[in-house]
Amino acid sequence: MFNHSRLRQVAYVIFIALFFLLLFVLFNSKSNPVPTVPLSQVVDEAQSGQVKEIDVKGNQLDIKLNNGSEQKSVKEDSTSLTDYKIDPAKVSINVTDTSSSNLWLNILISVGPILLFVILLFFILRQAQGGGAGKAFSFTQSQPKLFVGGKNKVTFADVAGLEESKEELSEVVEFLKNPRKFETLGAEVPKGVLLFGPPGCGKTLLAKAVAGEANVPFFSISGSEFVELFVGVGAARVRDLFEKAKHNSPSIIFIDELDAVGRQRGTGLGGTHDEREQTLNQILVEMDGFDTDTRVIVIAATNRSDVLDPALLRPGRFDRRIILTLPTREEREAILKIHSKNKPMAKDVNLDKMAAITAGFSGADLENLLNEGAILAARHGKKQIEEKEMEEALEKVVLGPEKKSRLLKGKEKELSAYHEAGHALVGELLPNTDPVHKISLVSRGEALGYTWSLPEEDLYIITRSKFRDQLAALLGGRVAEEVVLNEISTGAENDLRRSTKIAREMVANFGMSDKIGPIVYGEREELIFLGKELAEHKILSEKTASMIDDEIRSTIEQAYEKARAILVSHRKVLDDIAELLLKNEEISRKEFLLILKKDHVVSAHQKK
Ligand code: ADP
Ligand code: MG
Ligand code: ZN
Repeated sequence: MFNHSRLRQVAYVIFIALFFLLLFVLFNSKSNPVPTVPLSQVVDEAQSGQVKEIDVKGNQLDIKLNNGSEQKSVKEDSTSLTDYKIDPAKVSINVTDTSSSNLWLNILISVGPILLFVILLFFILRQAQGGGAGKAFSFTQSQPKLFVGGKNKVTFADVAGLEESKEELSEVVEFLKNPRKFETLGAEVPKGVLLFGPPGCGKTLLAKAVAGEANVPFFSISGSEFVELFVGVGAARVRDLFEKAKHNSPSIIFIDELDAVGRQRGTGLGGTHDEREQTLNQILVEMDGFDTDTRVIVIAATNRSDVLDPALLRPGRFDRRIILTLPTREEREAILKIHSKNKPMAKDVNLDKMAAITAGFSGADLENLLNEGAILAARHGKKQIEEKEMEEALEKVVLGPEKKSRLLKGKEKELSAYHEAGHALVGELLPNTDPVHKISLVSRGEALGYTWSLPEEDLYIITRSKFRDQLAALLGGRVAEEVVLNEISTGAENDLRRSTKIAREMVANFGMSDKIGPIVYGEREELIFLGKELAEHKILSEKTASMIDDEIRSTIEQAYEKARAILVSHRKVLDDIAELLLKNEEISRKEFLLILKKDHVVSAHQKK
């Protein structure tokens, strides 16, 4: 299992370098060589006073005569020119040390051509051996990464949660280890397994775990590596990859990011789609070419099964699909446990609580969160990661890094304080929103200030009431500016963008408008991206289009009015929140609830 291609690339470079060196040496040597004369002649010339100077380099003598002409000669090893009665007083003699300087050049000149020839021979032989013309160019060969066991072996124990997926995959492992068991029952084990799920949910990890469990060679390649400049290269790589895997059977081929090659054929808007088609066709051909006793299983991963070519999903190809989802609360806790194992966590860090407030985080996000915590603890000079660091890390991961340098002042600060107080108060007083966790005027990421709400539980379904309350809270910032300062600002741009998007989805995608009814007019962004359904969705009558626009407008207006009603009737507490915010820059949930209590306002989220 030795990969020659890297070696060959190095050889190419040496080959070319030597070639140029040879040319250089040839052209540099003088076209009009200096005549070589016998030593006796030199001695004669010197004694008769014709010689001006002699350069001695080892045994070589370069002689300059008084008449301007030059000569070369050679003397014996151990003799000196004075031994030949050449008088140093009459002839100037320069001796140069030759032991190192010219030695290498001499060796190169004498050995170079031979070396060149040997390398050339090596290439000719290899090519003859390899047969196929493609063998001459290493870039058509796939460079799969091979993992088998080893120190960093990943097993199912390293994968938290995803129990159903692990179960399905352990069948694959079982087949690779013990194919007889399935064959005697006439069971056919799938050739291809497709892992589908959002980014960072553990697809690559799971595939590695399969290899670790089965203890067989695991050839891993990413779909994006196939997307090459030249048409045909991808297909050649696929051929090569499958050849290697079959040669090492039983084995696993893992194609990560399959969507990079497996997009629906004939729909691409991009330029490289010929290349993709050929690569994809080759994958299909190879998978069809497995005979029943080929013990190679192809595992592929993608986060967009909706764009995959249907031919890939046909029986006999990737007919087993495993859908991974974002981790549930319990799974998040398990993932946090796995990744905090090698980190010194302080006792006050409650992973269960961390799991509860990280709804929507993927495994990769959680890993990143712990890492940020560790970095912060190191920066604070602590020996352990404490609750404080984890809290800060979460804020950083969710909202972006703090920008302490961008501090608001004067009028801007006041506007901002009322804006955030508006978000917080509307959100807190409506029942279907996430409770406010923190309000801040410290700039983070793009935002100048923020109201940070955390979900109380994982939600899989969002109701219309929740959308409506969320809209009101989102608009609460703008409403507060208007109600209190009788002024509106650009600070609400992002809020408006988001609320318009939500309203549009409610009306056009989720059938939540009474006037439009349960009909979907929305187009999904992926489809636009693919160019496929572009035409279909333009069949929208002008009347419907304007009705949709009206409904979006009225959805927003209702939410705006709801927010306004709340803020107008709770003006005192709004002022109090803004005031504290201006003073302290940040308000925690605890302080926030204290203000509400003081002003006798009841939060819709206070525990029943
Ligand atoms: P993708 O689905 O995008 O291929 P990866 O498998 O590369 O995601 O996951 C990225 C990282 O997130 C992994 O290396 C692992 O550390 C962590 N991770 C994701 N899911 C899990 C999980 N279920 N258990 C443990 N770690 C996980
Ligand atoms: Mg991956
Ligand atoms: Zn806002």
